[in-house]
Parts: sequence; structure tokens; C-alpha cells
Amino acid sequence: MIITRFAPSPTGYLHIGGLRTALYSYLIAKQSNGKFLLRIEDTDRERFVADGVLNILKSLYWAGIIPDEGVKLDCESIVGECAATQEGESGPYVQSERLEIYQKYADELIEKGFAYYCFCAQERLEELRKKQQENKQATGYDGHCREVDIKEAKKKIANGEKYAVRMKMPKNGVTIFQDLIRGEVSFKNELVDDQVILKSDGFPTYHLAVVVDDHLMGITHIIRGEEWLSSVPKHIQLYKYLGWEPPKFAHLPLLLNSDKSKLSKRQGDVSVSDYIKKGYLPEALINFVAFLGWNPGGEKEIFSLDELAKEFSLEKVGKAGAVFNLQKLDWYNQQYIRRLAPREFVARALPFLADGKLLTEPKIENEEHEKRLEKILGLERERITTLSELPEMIRFAFELPDYESELLVWKKSSAEEAKNALSEVKEYLNKFSVQEWTKNNLEQKTGEWIKEKGYGNGVVLWPLRVSLSGQKDSPGPFEIMDALEKEESIIRLETAIAKF
Ligand code: GLU
Repeated sequence: MIITRFAPSPTGYLHIGGLRTALYSYLIAKQSNGKFLLRIEDTDRERFVADGVLNILKSLYWAGIIPDEGVKLDCESIVGECAATQEGESGPYVQSERLEIYQKYADELIEKGFAYYCFCAQERLEELRKKQQENKQATGYDGHCREVDIKEAKKKIANGEKYAVRMKMPKNGVTIFQDLIRGEVSFKNELVDDQVILKSDGFPTYHLAVVVDDHLMGITHIIRGEEWLSSVPKHIQLYKYLGWEPPKFAHLPLLLNSDKSKLSKRQGDVSVSDYIKKGYLPEALINFVAFLGWNPGGEKEIFSLDELAKEFSLEKVGKAGAVFNLQKLDWYNQQYIRRLAPREFVARALPFLADGKLLTEPKIENEEHEKRLEKILGLERERITTLSELPEMIRFAFELPDYESELLVWKKSSAEEAKNALSEVKEYLNKFSVQEWTKNNLEQKTGEWIKEKGYGNGVVLWPLRVSLSGQKDSPGPFEIMDALEKEESIIRLETAIAKF
């Protein structure tokens, strides 16, 4: 069975790059009825961010990437109170809860002569680094403690000396492996450092923890960012030392800004929560992120999560950096907004309407309320890019903005003419019954009426539209009348007439 994992470090919020890694890992597991596991790699205590784990989990759940095993989210809805829980046979799935396990393997490596105690103080290491930099040499550990006799070392430890554990990297030969995206990759062993695997605080480093956990959790495929590629020789060596079979590796291309620099905060939003807040739909963000580095070939661009699971393959992931193109994301979002059923569109918009104070709560009161919202929101659905734009665009339908009477006068008309046209059209519209009050009917009949009266379209339709919206720009008058319904529309017309 294929078992993949996403193993974020809670050093911040879920990054777009992390979402892509999680998505690809999830897809590879799903398409073969395998398992997708989530593990929290929190061994870097200095960079730990308290709400990082919950943010990562909530962002993944929002996107529909739900782990089968490991750290999961426990809550009714991701906007409410949530807690992280763990589920599965190979837990715990949080590295800080597995310290004894790492200690055991560090001891085993030392016993077998594949790792050694290192007593070098921080100052010595800094000094060494400085010298290497001055001499334009590659920086790295110089093996100072590599040959310290083990009995000697144990004595020092018994005397209370502080130590770390380093792995012994072979000094010659090459480490070769097949990357599922890059093909054959090889590293000269002499250029690879004797990596610290256990720190003096008893915490493992990433390198030991990741190898031990991927093995014990039965991971078959490791999919992660390119920045980890150079760590693979160390990991492969650890697998060898521990007598384990390494999993398959796939290293994803970097994400780039449009100027080809590495995707960073400085050039825009990088955390998934930023995009959630802005009102991107999960379907759109997932579809967009799937294409960051992957291309199925062919014309089709719209893929649901299920379709992605069928189509996705690592062979079609490129090696070159993938450019993050915000316009493309906007396009996806518009496509998905347009595809939502009206009811669903309302449901997705509710939190944004509440945020914009157009609703007191993000809730539908009853069926009538829902129908009304469907019509009102439908006015702007084709015009928005993200849901967060909706409240400002649609506010006029909830509360008539204050405006000056001059706005009611079309540029080729006069105040006098506008007032008369408005009064007459109001009288005319008032005769429609509530049942007759539909967009098409209103549009057709009013059009005929304008012709009969000998008015120009602008003379009537401009003030009519402004009366209904209170704005210079807005959707057309018949759409608005349909959405506002008869009573409110007539009140707005009367308000306008009274302004003259
Ligand atoms: N904890 C690492 C990170 O957050 C995971 C690297 C890996 O997937 O092996 O990037």
C-alpha cells in the first residue's frame, strides 16, 4: 500500500508551497487507495509558533485535504473551536512526543560506530565557521570529535559535560538515488557534513527524526520541496546504518514570484489563511496550486479534487521552478464562483456578508431570506473575483446609499426631464403585480413603454438605475428591481423623486 505523509514544522502558518506538498502527497495516496498521514515536526523549539499546528490543520481541512492517519482536527466546523487530536497505530505523530524513540536510535547508531558524541562548544563551531568563510572554504564540521574514544566520551558525559550526537558520514564514495521527479541524483560523500542528529537538549534534529519516523510509520513515498534534496544523502546513509529500506523520494520544484525570485512574503501573500480571508474558494486554490509544477498536457484546466486524484502523476511534474501567477488564481476563482449553485454561492458568501456587517450573523433566517439573498448576491456574482469584494459591491442592495439628486440626471438630459421621466415610470411600474415583477417581464414591458412615450432610453433608464442603486455604477435596473422586489423598488423610486 502507498503511504504518503505531510510533515510540516509549526514554525508559522501553512504556506502555499506547503499546501502544494500536502496536495500532491494526498493525491498520490488517494489515487491508489493508499493512506495519507500527517505528522508534526516540532523539534525546532526556537522557531515554534503556538497556533501554527491549528492553522496548518485548519487550512488543510478547508482545502479538503484530510489526513487518514496522524494528527487530525477535532471540531464541528473549522470556523469554531478546534483541537488537534491523533489517530493511528504508529503514533504519537508529534515529534516532541517521541523523544525516547529518537534517543534509542541515536544510541544504536553510536553502539554500531555510525555516530559519535560531539563535545564541541558553540564558540568553537562559530570560530571554525568564520575561519572557513575567511579562507573561502566550504563550511562544515571538521570532524574534531569523530575519533574520540568511546570510553573517553562516556567518562566526559558521566562528568556532566554537554554533548550532541553526530552521524559519521563516509569520507569517500558517492550516494546515488533515483528521484521520481529529477531522475538520478548523486552527491559526493566527502562534501556532506557529519550532521548533528541529537542536540544537547535531547531533541533530535530533523534528519534523525524524519528518517526514524518515515520508517516506523511505513511511509513509501516522500514528496516534499526541493530545499530538502541536499539532505537526502544523509538520510540514505542513516537508512543504511539502521538496516532499513529507504522510501521513494520526489522533490518538487521551487515556487517563484513572477520575477523568478523565490516566492516570499515581500511580494504578496504566501499563507493559505491570507487567501481564505480574501475569499478564494478552496476548489479554486487547490486547482491553481495543483498546476504549480504539474501539467497534465491537453486543454483541460478545471479539475476537482477527485479528478486531480485520478489524473495526477509525479512524472508530469517539471523540474523547473513554478511561477506563482496571481492573475491565474483570480481566473480560477471567477470560474469556480460562477459554477456554484445559487444556494451554495449564498452559503459561501455568508461569512463575508457578516464581516461586512450586512448580516448580523453568518446565517440564513428562513427560505424566503435565502431566496432573497440568492437574487441580491446574483447581481454581482459575475463581477467579483473574490468573495471579500462582495459586501462592498452589494451594500447598495441592503442599504440605499446617500446620493445627490444631480446623480439622477443623465448627461444628455436635464433635472426637469429626469424628474418627469422618473415620476412617470414609477406610476407605470407600480401597476405591475408582485407576480409580474420579474426581470424579463419588467425589461420587455418597460422597453415598449419607453418607445410608446417617445423617450430616449438613457433619459429613463439612467435615473431609474441610479434611484435603485444610489450609485453611478451598478448592475442594470431590471436586475436590481427583480432582486429588491416591488415594495423596496418603489420606495427607492419615491425617495429619488423627492430629492428634486
Ligand atoms: N518538517 C519539514 C518541513 O516543514 C518537512 C520536510 C520533509 O517533508 O521531510 O519542511
